[in-house]
Amino acid sequence: MTHFPRLTLASGPVDVSAETLRAMQKPVVYHYDPVFLEIFAHTTELMAKVFQTEYDIVLLQAEAIAGLEAAAASVIEPGTKVLNLVSGVFGKGFESWIEAYGGETIEIAVPYNQAIDPEDVRRAFQLDPSISVVSVVHSETPSGTINPIKEIGRIAHEHGAITIVDTVSGLLSEDLSPEEWGMDIAVAGPQKCLSGVPGMSLIAVSPAAWERMESLNKPLRGSFLSLLDWKSSWVDNRRFPYTPSVSDVYALESVLQQTLDEGVANIVARHQVSARATRAAVRALRLEIWAANDAIATACCTAVKVPEGIDDATLRGHMRSRYGVMISGGYGSIAGKLFRLGHMGLSAHPTSVIAQIGILERSLLDLGLNVQAGAGVAAALAEFSDWDDATYTYA
Ligand SMILES: *Cc1c(COP(=O)(O)O)cnc(C)c1O
Repeated sequence: MTHFPRLTLASGPVDVSAETLRAMQKPVVYHYDPVFLEIFAHTTELMAKVFQTEYDIVLLQAEAIAGLEAAAASVIEPGTKVLNLVSGVFGKGFESWIEAYGGETIEIAVPYNQAIDPEDVRRAFQLDPSISVVSVVHSETPSGTINPIKEIGRIAHEHGAITIVDTVSGLLSEDLSPEEWGMDIAVAGPQKCLSGVPGMSLIAVSPAAWERMESLNKPLRGSFLSLLDWKSSWVDNRRFPYTPSVSDVYALESVLQQTLDEGVANIVARHQVSARATRAAVRALRLEIWAANDAIATACCTAVKVPEGIDDATLRGHMRSRYGVMISGGYGSIAGKLFRLGHMGLSAHPTSVIAQIGILERSLLDLGLNVQAGAGVAAALAEFSDWDDATYTYA
């Protein structure tokens, strides 16, 4: 029988705290029970605080992919011109929804180790001012890169377009606010930097996005993917369009409370320093970071080029079976070319980062690669030299 891993340092889902697991053990109640209505409303309020937004919040059950498709289905109609910004697997994937809902895709694509240049977005609007929706991924988890959402959002708004932003792994890896960053529909997931339980889409919706949904020739209604159904049920009337995943909501409420107790800025700082430490370790081991430069490296995971002579699946399998550490590989068109070191959620902390680097070093040696044992660990420790657990609280 396979043992459970000791550390889940994958790029989501990641380890969750004991407090979160306990929260899921509360009684499963009728969703219109007053206690659940109170919990759901509270969870919504906490979510707005973590998103640092005044926008309406929709807590859609089903993984974040469903939230992204719901955003597409709710704002795209036949003929809608959508500027789709592609810097990785998830960005490219969005195109299938644009097509499915009858939109016209205008694509800006860069190699999957680079980021979108806002000036290219500006040029796209100059070439075609009738673009009304911009879709973009904030943190492209599969390639460990980040896009300049704030600049892109500003340009989209200057041209009267709304944005759909996949910030599934971006929320808490950077200090963001949908208002300040021009995110009209921002979709996050609990199982990335929040260290929550997978299975929900956490969505902030701007007034401009609601307006657009209502003004379509045939607004999407009566569908699991209809955000408008959530507006007229939960947002406006405290009713549900269908039965929420009661236990997942308990987990989310707990995770959000833990997040606010620690502080959004502290959590972002934990992610940033963990990413810096991991990159320093990778370089000390003479491995190569996948992202073209550090300024566009995401803080939630570090993608590393698979070194010559090593097979990615063998390396990850070895780390998992021999040392009990689960990490992620590449995905889609970049599968096999990179592996990802995780520092997401609770694992954005020296304990996990150092353990992961040490076990990576040992595994590379086991597989015959000539790395200097301890070099990565030493480089990572140097980045943590002013770490103080009393200020970076840890649940
Ligand atoms: C994880 C992830 C998703 C998908 O989230 P699921 O909850 O697994 O559906 C989408 N986009 C990005 C950038 C992600 O990291």
